[in-house]
Amino acid sequence: MTSTYPAYLIFIGPPGAGKGTQAAMLEKELGLKQVSSGDLFRENLKNQTELGLLAKSYIDRGELVPDGVTISMVQDRMQRPDCARGAILDGFPRTLEQASALDGMLAGQGSRIALVPVLTVDDDALIARLTGRRVCRNCGATYHVVFNPPRVESVCDACGGELYQRSDDSLETVRNRLYVYYKQTSPLIGYYYAKDLTTFIDGSQAIEVVRQALLDAIQTVLHGK
Ligand code: ADP
Ligand code: ADP
Ligand code: ZN
Repeated sequence: MTSTYPAYLIFIGPPGAGKGTQAAMLEKELGLKQVSSGDLFRENLKNQTELGLLAKSYIDRGELVPDGVTISMVQDRMQRPDCARGAILDGFPRTLEQASALDGMLAGQGSRIALVPVLTVDDDALIARLTGRRVCRNCGATYHVVFNPPRVESVCDACGGELYQRSDDSLETVRNRLYVYYKQTSPLIGYYYAKDLTTFIDGSQAIEVVRQALLDAIQTVLHGK
C-alpha cells in the first residue's frame, strides 16, 4: 500500500461546472494547494509574460493552449514547496497528452492520483453560470451575479478587489469552450474511469451540497472514512 500523501486530485468538468469554486473552498480544509491552469495563464497575461501573450490568442477564441507550454507551466507550479503534500488540479489535464505527461511526472516522483471527481452539469445551466460569472481582479476569487453574489456589488468579499467579467465568458466564446470540452477533454473521463479513479458528482446542486459530496468522496479515499 502506497502512502496517502502526496495526494493529487483532478477535478474534471465542463467550463462552469464549479471546479474553481469547489477547489478554492476545499484547499484549506484538505491542506492541498489548488493549482488552476486557467488562473496561471491569467496571471501570465496580467504580468504580460511571453507565455501570457501566446496563451491570450487561444483563450480569447476558447481554444486550448498548446500542450507543450501548458504541461511545463503546470509542472513548474507543482514543483513548488506548497505542493509538497499534493494538489487539487483544476483545469489540468485537459487533453490525453496532458494526462499522460502528468502520469509520467507523478510516476517519476513515486506518487499517484488519489481521485478524479467528475462534476456533471447540463449545458443550459453552464451557459447561465458562465455568462453571470464575475472574478476578482486582485485575488481571482469567483462569484456569480445571481447564484453566488458578493456582499457588495462588484466588490470582492475576500480582499475588496474589483470584480470583472472574463472576456472569454461571452456567449459566443462559451459555446466554443463547451464544444472543445466535449471533443478534447471529456475523453479523459474514460481514461481515468478505466483506472478506477473517477467519482461522479451532480454539479447542478447548490454549492454547499456539492462541497459536502466532494468532501465525503475525497475523505473516503484519503482516510478511509
Ligand atoms: P473554465 O472556467 O472553462 O474551466 P479556465 O479558467 O480553466 O476555464 O481556462 C480558461 C482558458 O485557459 C481555457 O479556455 C483555455 O484556453 C486555457 N486553458 C486552461 N487550462 C488549460 C489546459 N489544461 N490546456 C490548455 N488550455 C488551457
Ligand atoms: P469552473 O471553474 O468549472 O469553470 P466556476 O467554479 O468558475 O467553474 O463556476 C462557474 C460559475 O458558476 C461561477 O460564477 C460560480 O460562482 C457559479 N457556480 C459554481 N458552482 C455553482 C453551483 N453549484 N450552483 C450555482 N452556481 C455555481
Ligand atoms: Zn479578491
